[in-house]
Amino acid sequence: MFNFRLLNKIILTLLAIFLITSPVLANDISFSTQEPKIGSLITVKTHSDLINGEIMINNNSFPIRSDNNQGIGIIPISYWWSPGEYTATIVDNQGRTWIKENIRIKDADFDKSYLTIDDEQEEIVRPTDPERQARRARDQEMVQAARAESHPDRLWTESFIWPLEGRLTTDFGATRYHNNELANRHNGIDIAAPTGTPVMASNTGQVTLAADLLATGKTIIIDHGWNIYSSYLHLNELFVEKGDSVTQGDKIGAVGSTGFSTGPHLHWSISYNRIFLDPRDFVDLEL
Ligand SMILES: [Zn+2]
Repeated sequence: MFNFRLLNKIILTLLAIFLITSPVLANDISFSTQEPKIGSLITVKTHSDLINGEIMINNNSFPIRSDNNQGIGIIPISYWWSPGEYTATIVDNQGRTWIKENIRIKDADFDKSYLTIDDEQEEIVRPTDPERQARRARDQEMVQAARAESHPDRLWTESFIWPLEGRLTTDFGATRYHNNELANRHNGIDIAAPTGTPVMASNTGQVTLAADLLATGKTIIIDHGWNIYSSYLHLNELFVEKGDSVTQGDKIGAVGSTGFSTGPHLHWSISYNRIFLDPRDFVDLEL
């Protein structure tokens, strides 16, 4: 006679083995896009079984952080990466691979900007004077230190906001030529506005730098936690100090033309894990 009880037991055992061994929840891992442009970001959302881990892509690793009983990861697509096919691999903190996702990175159509700079400005950008060189080195150390240790929690709840209204003059990613020499990519957005126009904090966070620097003039850097920093350059006035807590929309400074600047404007940038991304992606960010 057929043993239904035994069959039942076998089926249940097989089901249990299947449930334990298969990554049944891999489908619950979502990527905001699989075709990002260079200079943009991908957000990755996971589930309660995967709230701590890593995303590996292009020999880089970015954390998945626990947030409201789910995992959140941000993949910053640097504008120095080459467009092409990549694989994003998600591994939990026990080393188990959960998913391998194909990512097609697309090129971006960045502007090109040409600046003619005279000797005095050249001296600010690439100083030869030992005193200026020393000051520049000190400035760079200060900026590095300001982005060195981010708050482990995110300090904001709302999407980021533009720090002021004005005319966009140089866009993010613009390829910069100084006297026809490739100088850099523009790591932020330049917004022209009259001197003294209030500049608001893009989001809630803590001021990690408020200082007058040689190249970027009066400069503010805000830590928003999770290794996200916003920066505000060439200000005329600083209304905050290092260590201050700021709330989104707080007036932190006023537009100016200090440092290497050709007219009153704000240079606004946002970085994640020291990779500069289009600030618009943070304005659109919904987490
Ligand atoms: Zn700029």
